[in-house]
Amino acid sequence: MNPVPDKRGQSCDLCDGPAVIRIREPERRLCGPHFVADLEQRVADRIATHRMISPGDRVAVAFSGGKDSSALLSILSRLYSPFRDVSLVAITIDEGIAGYREETVEAACRLAAQLGVEHSIQSFSSLFSDDLDHLLSGREKQACTVCGVLRRRSLVIAASGAGATKIATGHNLDDEAQSVMMNLLRGDLPRLISDTASRDEGCFLPRIKPLSGIPEKEIAVYLLVQGSLPDLPECPYTRHALRAEVRTLLAGLEYRHPGTMTRLIASRDQVRSAIRANRSASQIRNCRICGGICREEICQVCRILHPDLK
Ligand code: SF4
Repeated sequence: MNPVPDKRGQSCDLCDGPAVIRIREPERRLCGPHFVADLEQRVADRIATHRMISPGDRVAVAFSGGKDSSALLSILSRLYSPFRDVSLVAITIDEGIAGYREETVEAACRLAAQLGVEHSIQSFSSLFSDDLDHLLSGREKQACTVCGVLRRRSLVIAASGAGATKIATGHNLDDEAQSVMMNLLRGDLPRLISDTASRDEGCFLPRIKPLSGIPEKEIAVYLLVQGSLPDLPECPYTRHALRAEVRTLLAGLEYRHPGTMTRLIASRDQVRSAIRANRSASQIRNCRICGGICREEICQVCRILHPDLK
């Protein structure tokens, strides 16, 4: 499913309009409006196939204001605005990253208002008594690990406070493949096989990833053809991220060997299925410091906030 920008002059397979993208599996060329409808239908199919959203659900959308979460919020608001028995709340986490977050939070506020979706902002400062920039003092190279752990906890707190029954994140196909590769490179089998979509895995609010079958480039084209691709600054800590190197590596492999990312994710799913049968819910416990759900005696959040704890 690797999208390839189409050559000039090719027309859409479904109308006479100019094609903006060529999609593999099945091979097809589509114009802007047909591509938007095609992508939204694939997301709707994925939600239905995996029973991600049910009547009565209140879905908290993790909404940074970047392209993936903007696409996710737009698609979910289109799919579910006709239904009164499913509600959405967009949640933006302000980590406190100077020179970066201010603009993305503003973009998030604008889009949520435009879509008419309820919007809530939660900050690290209010939850952890300090912003990310200060919490990272002396350990900047761990920025994404610290940020990710605290952001996940912030999301759960904000989503619970908003009465949500599910958390939807904008992870796309590339993100999923990158996570598999990163966990393999780190030798982190527990994280490789963890499945946050399941209540049994210690996440009391199940997470869903409606865009996880959509390649990153398609999401960019989806927003571009609608004139809504956000032009935002990059997080200053990206330069420390292993993900940035893995992203480049996998993009090259996908280009030369189409289907690489899908096969990598499928391998993870096979390992996960094989191991799940032997796992026990008894592995889940409460952190002895904060009481949060975790697998160790002390949760990752408390280890970050209190590095001296034994
Ligand atoms: Fe957080 Fe890293 Fe993303 Fe920056 S690049 S927002 S530090 S996870």
